[in-house]
Amino acid sequence: MEKRTIAIDCKFSRRDAYDALSMPIYHTAAYEFDNAAAMSDAFCGRVEVPDYSRVMNPTVKYFEDKVKAITKAANVVALNSGMAAISNTLLALASQGKNIVTSKHLFGNTYSLITKSLARFGVEVRLVDLTDLEAVEKTVDTNTCCLFLEIVTNPQMEVADLQAISNIIHKKNIPLVADSTIIPFTRFSAHTLGVDIEVVSSTKYVSGGATSLGGLIIDYGTLPEFSERIKNEMLFNFGAYMTPHVAYMQSLGLELLETRYAALSSNAQQLAEHLLTLSQIKRVNYNGLPDNPFHEIAKRQFNNTYGAMITIDLADEQSCYRFIDRLKLIRRATNLFDNKTLAIHPASTIFGSFTDDQRRSMDVLPTTIRLSIGLEAVEDIFDDIKQALQ
Ligand SMILES: *Cc1c(COP(=O)(O)O)cnc(C)c1O
Repeated sequence: MEKRTIAIDCKFSRRDAYDALSMPIYHTAAYEFDNAAAMSDAFCGRVEVPDYSRVMNPTVKYFEDKVKAITKAANVVALNSGMAAISNTLLALASQGKNIVTSKHLFGNTYSLITKSLARFGVEVRLVDLTDLEAVEKTVDTNTCCLFLEIVTNPQMEVADLQAISNIIHKKNIPLVADSTIIPFTRFSAHTLGVDIEVVSSTKYVSGGATSLGGLIIDYGTLPEFSERIKNEMLFNFGAYMTPHVAYMQSLGLELLETRYAALSSNAQQLAEHLLTLSQIKRVNYNGLPDNPFHEIAKRQFNNTYGAMITIDLADEQSCYRFIDRLKLIRRATNLFDNKTLAIHPASTIFGSFTDDQRRSMDVLPTTIRLSIGLEAVEDIFDDIKQALQ
């Protein structure tokens, strides 16, 4: 069955008491039992029924079931943000004395989580250029608990070779954890490329127009005990499970994901091509442009689709500020893959608390503006950019 069909027609795991056609929002903290034995069976995990909504809720489970059917994963857990998905995954894998191998090209909060928060608990971080396979091979060792990467880095747009990296680290029994937020999981199979655990900020494409924050841990079942640990330890002890109202919105967002993504990515491709014609723009960075250094690998890994994020470089930082201030249609906001087009100057915002040296080492340039392309008419987005550059 096609993924867009599954996203819409996935069945409830249990028939609703009133035969509701939409999954109801089960806004309840706890669940009642008929007798002591049934209660014990639920609490001890002998039957999979909800007992408390910190670890299971029917509305959230329906959203998880849809993602599981689409990705053919072994287990899917929905959390209350992308950062919750990433932090709970890394907390489940890491321990004192272990190391995480990753790149300096990371989402700002993920970088801080690994280099600051986890470091405080004695987890070592090893930063490596993930496009240099020899360096990757030399950096991992028997204490490496995982290699973490983003499938398309932001704002650099670097694309690592997932199959090649997984081949290297799997020989040493090291799992590959990938943040796939930038390309929807409906469009490519991360597991086929060697990814063991996929993490997603469903705040972005899935939520359906920035309705809510959410995160997904998509586990392909290659690591013994990982999902048990997420369910029996992380959800119970850290308490970051998704809430039912959010799951309702995200599930609805998922129903329209394929339809929205087709329009978003087509808008981004057309706009990237239009932007090449403007002399004030020194560089257009989009993997869908044929002369982009990561075009071929992105094309191969993600089945000819390149997402809806574009970065542009202007002459200097003042030009970036002036451009942002003059925008009339495009919104000055962070976030990605809203229905609205958004613009942000990453160096002074997302990476604003880093030092110049850190930003330079992360290839976050003062001349770069990040655009998240929305569903408006391409001509209207292009006109706004043109007038803001005058
Ligand atoms: C937004 C984002 C996150 C964090 O997700 P939240 O839902 O905001 O917590 C992590 N990784 C990437 C690549 C993102 O774009």
